[in-house]
Amino acid sequence: MRQQRLIILGATGSVGESTAQVVESVRDRVGIDGLVAHRSGERLWDLGRRLEASWVGLTDASAAAAVAAAHLGVRPRVVGGMDAIVEAIRSSPADRVMAAMSGFSGLVPTLAAIERGMDILLANKETLVAAGELVTSRARQTGSRIIPVDSEHSAIFQCLAAAQPPLRVILTCSGGPFRGRRQSDLEHVRPADALNHPTWNMGRKITIDTATLMNKGLEIIEAHWLFGLDYERIGVIVHPESIVHSMVEFEDGAIMAQLGEPDMRVPIEVAMAWPERWAVPVPHLSLVGRSLTFEAPDEKTFPALALARSAGETGGLYPCALNAANEVAVEQFLSGRLAFLNIATLVQSVLNTGDWGGRADSLDAILECDARARAAAASLSTV
Ligand code: NDP
Ligand code: MG
Repeated sequence: MRQQRLIILGATGSVGESTAQVVESVRDRVGIDGLVAHRSGERLWDLGRRLEASWVGLTDASAAAAVAAAHLGVRPRVVGGMDAIVEAIRSSPADRVMAAMSGFSGLVPTLAAIERGMDILLANKETLVAAGELVTSRARQTGSRIIPVDSEHSAIFQCLAAAQPPLRVILTCSGGPFRGRRQSDLEHVRPADALNHPTWNMGRKITIDTATLMNKGLEIIEAHWLFGLDYERIGVIVHPESIVHSMVEFEDGAIMAQLGEPDMRVPIEVAMAWPERWAVPVPHLSLVGRSLTFEAPDEKTFPALALARSAGETGGLYPCALNAANEVAVEQFLSGRLAFLNIATLVQSVLNTGDWGGRADSLDAILECDARARAAAASLSTV
């Protein structure tokens, strides 16, 4: 059996840790080349030892220097700063990259892997939201496959393997911690309330996105690029139990769905093993006595959903600006500087006030747009 060589971007995060667990359960099939994080130096180093990585990289160069000094001459090799990490990816023998860094920070290393024709196991949806056209077109040119890890997109990917073409896809949405509330109930929400997700245990940024429903909005844009579907063919349905991970509807009215307990180790394994299926130590679903419920999303209370859909439909640099403004707004909310309801308001203001009509077909254009939208969000939020 040929062993895959894998790089994990965002190895110390929630998806990164689940990926490490899957890798440990299939050690004969997957070997680790490199691991990347931001500044969790000792945690990354320990993980690198545990998984026998050849190198570990920290985008924060001073965190990298501290880890390197603490473990002089011991493997894995330590790489510091984004440029050196990109270089390590370029010269790596890995054939696959788990893209699980949070936010826009994942774009540059993921693109470096695509340029090398490596397959991308994609959790980091912001990469496709900000740069979907660039990422998918470069992947087509280099032969790099983009296999979804986001649970909804993994479900759709699995259903599409059974039949084509889809009439539409239906993304399921847990509704987040504030499902059933009205805007007036959400005026005084604190970060701790919003970080309390009912069904999934995830990193802080995506957990806030699930509370505003921006996460589902980003996933609409992600689905557009992953599956090449027009926006009117991408629906959203609220399903609080998070058992049906998404669905595909066909011309004949049939709907296929993928079900399972909410556990990221399954979509991670699917992306690694595809088109095989491997045994991973996850709880299997029993439907006896379970009820599955569905309802329409409340777009009035959660305006971020429609905001993201509309940015996606408008296209150009709008999704990139939306993503940047949202990252700034979430950061400000988490540090107590912005009210929960103002997350969507701030994103809307950035989209209204800037000129985001340019083309999103080069890395330079996307980096420039991201920086401009962040600056606009920062200045608007202080007035
Ligand atoms: P976490 O916040 O738990 O982890 C983020 C990871 O990215 C950490 O390893 C962190 O390193 C690293 N990181 C953050 N910023 C940078 C940076 N500037 N440079 C380098 N590394 C960085 O996030 P999640 O695991 O929850 O999510 C990761 C991605 O996967 C997101 O895009 C999210 O939307 C997506 N996703 C997550 C799901 C989940 O279940 N968690 C489900 C579906 C998608 P450090 O520890 O050093 O800060
Ligand atoms: Mg998801």
